[in-house]
Amino acid sequence: MLQSQPSQSDYDVIVVGGGPAGSATAMSLVQAGVSSVLLLEASQYRQSRVGESLIPDVRQCFNRLAMSHEFLDACHVRTPGTASSWGSGTLGYNDFVCHPLGNGWHLDRRAFDHHLALTAAERGVEVCVNCRCQEVTDTTAGSGLRVTVKTDAGHRQVETGYIVDATGLSARIARQQGAHRTIADQLTVIYGYFSLPESSAPGDQTLLEACEYGWWYRSRLPDNKMIVSVSCDSSYFSRQRLHNWQCWLDCLAGTRYLSGGLCGARFDPASLKSTATVTGRLWPQYGPGWMAVGDAATSVDPVLGIGIVKSLDDGINAGLVIAKALAGDRTAGDQHQALRDQWYRDYLQQHQYLYGLERRWPDSEFWRQRHHMAAPEA
Ligand SMILES: Cc1cc2nc3c(=O)[nH]c(=O)nc-3n(C[C@H](O)[C@H](O)[C@H](O)COP(=O)(O)OP(=O)(O)OC[C@H]3O[C@@H](n4cnc5c(N)ncnc54)[C@H](O)[C@@H]3O)c2cc1C
Repeated sequence: MLQSQPSQSDYDVIVVGGGPAGSATAMSLVQAGVSSVLLLEASQYRQSRVGESLIPDVRQCFNRLAMSHEFLDACHVRTPGTASSWGSGTLGYNDFVCHPLGNGWHLDRRAFDHHLALTAAERGVEVCVNCRCQEVTDTTAGSGLRVTVKTDAGHRQVETGYIVDATGLSARIARQQGAHRTIADQLTVIYGYFSLPESSAPGDQTLLEACEYGWWYRSRLPDNKMIVSVSCDSSYFSRQRLHNWQCWLDCLAGTRYLSGGLCGARFDPASLKSTATVTGRLWPQYGPGWMAVGDAATSVDPVLGIGIVKSLDDGINAGLVIAKALAGDRTAGDQHQALRDQWYRDYLQQHQYLYGLERRWPDSEFWRQRHHMAAPEA
């Protein structure tokens, strides 16, 4: 059961943000024996959410959380892999049939995040929705933190010894603690939804297509929907007026593969939205009594489709580390940070390798910039 406001005045740990990272952290804390965990989520999981391709590696996260992945087959669409035109004009295939963990999924992302929060609640986490964390200050005694929460019924204050920032890219809590984000790359993503004819075949591949000004992506969703998105620089977005659905559709019509599979599909102009995605990391990522997890700590380019799994994994690890820190282990945080640093260096190398594969447009500002991205810190 999800609640509308906290039932206690004091918790061992408060997790702010009920996306994949927040729910995973909260479940991991309970698994590690932390008894009172509050998860605060600003939404009620009613609005649609973006980020829908789930790689097969999610099975390992679910195993660590002792969660069945059966619900994925019940409510989401299995995907056999990705087809891409990247670095060459012909389509290449990355088939999950060769992946040791099997297929991936295309999610109804809102339902996925809601399911994780419900599972956390079943495990003993107190999950409060429509509860936005507004401020974190020291308690009068100075030994803990006081958290101000905006609920339907007005403002509430709750106390804790440890707070987790799982608020996504905004990293609202960590920034209040003085952390800042260093950005390696940034994209503007403009996405919209199509309804597919009832007769269309289910579960086709994700399609990725590089073009001179960025890359397009298309993915089949549950309920016969299709998401189509373009990632480019913000200057191209403004110049081409891609916030305008007619301009966006004109641009889509110029793609070689993406536009092809949309015959008979109906575009919903009201669904067109834009957002920024950032490859970057927060610094510091933890301090006395707080830790950032998921995108709040480290955010990645959606081209790799690893954001959800990275956030689940980070949340699970963070839960274990925080439980150790609460039990008096003073080295757990530093060891965890060293692993996170290594992960980010490896990720940046993967990012450079991937963008380095596309050399068809030597005069393109978009590709030139990414070919000259700074090498990962040693
Ligand atoms: C356009 C786009 C496409 C993407 N595509 C993919 C993809 O195909 N596959 C993939 O794996 N990843 C994808 N990603 C990345 C993926 O969505 C993120 O990595 C993932 O959502 C991060 O999870 P998180 O829990 O850290 O943060 P989020 O999912 O951002 O969750 C943060 C939560 O915190 C809540 N919140 C924020 N502020 C407060 C507050 N003050 N109080 C209480 N609650 C608060 C929010 O409501 C939200 O529920 C994509 C991202 C973008 C932007």
